[in-house]
Amino acid sequence: MSANKACNQKRGKLVVVSGPSGAGKTSICNELLRILPNARWSVSVTTRAPRGQERDGEAYSFVSRDEIQRMIAAGELLEHAEYLGQIYGTPLKPVEDAVARGEIVVMEIDVQGGAQVAERVPDSVRIFVLPPTMYTLKARLEGRQTESETLQQKRLNEADGEIAFARNSGHYQYFVTNDILDETVARVLDIIKKEQDQACSTHS
Ligand code: 5GP
Repeated sequence: MSANKACNQKRGKLVVVSGPSGAGKTSICNELLRILPNARWSVSVTTRAPRGQERDGEAYSFVSRDEIQRMIAAGELLEHAEYLGQIYGTPLKPVEDAVARGEIVVMEIDVQGGAQVAERVPDSVRIFVLPPTMYTLKARLEGRQTESETLQQKRLNEADGEIAFARNSGHYQYFVTNDILDETVARVLDIIKKEQDQACSTHS
């Protein structure tokens, strides 16, 4: 076995995937989890109501505002942010435990959260997913049957600000345009591999 292979198996990695609603983050993350044997999903807590078929404890744990505020005060969250009036956050302990076990932790979070992770975990990989065009983004959001038109419009209105923030903040090392899903996933897999190899050469 090569030194690099042995190293890869030991070192965990935090992979942050951000991007405007409708850019295809969830599809990309699902593919990463399907393809990478040692990847695991970071289950966020949120005050927003379940959407469609979402079940508690899968994509999200659905909690009250009081409970999230308690978690924030107790330092139990790695990061948190308010998005369209709802609070979202990443529980710290499961992430720490998984990285310590050498796993790749996939986090789908907004740009405010991405900024906090960049500060707290500088060796995390931060990837921002762009739609091919704003028209595609609109069409993808409208294709969702699980939300009101008002909410879809609000999400679309957020997109420009999120993209500008991601570009100007310097917190994202990678920008990938999600046109064809398989190609985007291949690109993200390359990024993760490259980052792991770099971590190996810096730490070994
Ligand atoms: P949605 O309501 O569509 O599931 O998510 C809305 C936004 O919140 C998306 O940009 C999503 O990436 C983000 N989000 C989901 N979980 C978290 C989290 O734990 N922390 C932060 N900061 N954002 C999150």
